Amino acid sequence: MKPSVVAIKQQDIFKFNARAKSIPGAVNMTVGEPNFNTPDHIKQAAISAIENNKTHYTVPEGDHELLKAVAKYLHDKYDLNYDPETQIVATTGVTEGVFSAFNAILQNGDEVLIPSPSFTIYGPDANFNGASPVYLDTSKTGFKIVPEVLSEVLRTNPRIKILLLNYPSNPTGVSYTGDELEALAAILKEHNIFVISDEIYSELTYNFEHVSFGNILPEQTILLNGLSKSHAMTGWRFGVVCGPAEVISQINKIHELATTSITSITQYAALEAYTNGYDDPIAMKEQYQARRDVLYKGLSKLGFECPDPDGAFYLFLKIPDEYEQDDVKFANELLKEEHLAILPGSFFGIGGEGHLRISYAASMDSIEKCLSKLGNFLKNHQKV
Ligand code: PLP
Repeated sequence: MKPSVVAIKQQDIFKFNARAKSIPGAVNMTVGEPNFNTPDHIKQAAISAIENNKTHYTVPEGDHELLKAVAKYLHDKYDLNYDPETQIVATTGVTEGVFSAFNAILQNGDEVLIPSPSFTIYGPDANFNGASPVYLDTSKTGFKIVPEVLSEVLRTNPRIKILLLNYPSNPTGVSYTGDELEALAAILKEHNIFVISDEIYSELTYNFEHVSFGNILPEQTILLNGLSKSHAMTGWRFGVVCGPAEVISQINKIHELATTSITSITQYAALEAYTNGYDDPIAMKEQYQARRDVLYKGLSKLGFECPDPDGAFYLFLKIPDEYEQDDVKFANELLKEEHLAILPGSFFGIGGEGHLRISYAASMDSIEKCLSKLGNFLKNHQKV
């Protein structure tokens, strides 16, 4: 039997959320999914797939008309060049993509480098696939992995086989410019390290154009993307894994063993999203950006420091020095006293201590209430 490495931090998040939900009227700013509905034209495509009995097995990697549409979309949006016949597999969300990619690449005893704080599944996924996560605290370097540190870590940890990059980042909202990525790529090339690049928030990039790692170091990159965040399709479970043909073929075998294929109906919805849904993320992004601006300004006024978020829908705040620094205590008391739910940064691992993650996948009304409740809380807890 595999070791029981349940996603402990994820359980903490579930427990915290359950408490928030049990408080009537609590303002919940913990949510990691869009508060928009799937666009109607995508829903209609799925309905029509059902009505036309497109409800049979497909080939494991996904219908080839869909894969062609994915390739074209990734080319048009990010200038990526993947062959739809050999370099793309449709998966049950990025979540399955991470697991299948790890399973295809990792051997017992390998290590996976994870810049931390990070999304909670990567470490447990590495463990389940016989490898160990090596968490790298990025809190002193703007929540980014920087070339000097990467070089040193790879030099001293020869078992690292994969760097897991996620940008724009959950939980910090930071992203990387093309130049920053190039500098990392030069080191990864020298050490022959694979990058698994989780770019699920690519469409929600505010401060500059998103550059895909698939463009920077294509021969060593597995790109993960999908529709959960860009097209408000979390429940449909759609992701893509793209990369060099030989690795993708191996990933597809694992994917086939685990799933046969993703559901046919989701594939038709995804085909519509990738064909006629180019503008859907743009409309949603405008709203996220407006919320981000209000929240960021309001938090700065209250004295919080946080990285100017480049993307995603999260703000990662430092608890001001004059308050109690225990982020779990802070979040618990905030929930109890003000009925405001935001997640402790330490739930996202090393480097998250003393921070809080606010999701602005929430209404403007919730954002205003959040700011006012935080203001009250700070007043009541200021140390004199
Ligand atoms: N990757 C990151 C960084 C996420 O934040 C999430 C969801 O919150 C996922 C992946 C999950 O994506 P999917 O819904 O495609 O499985």
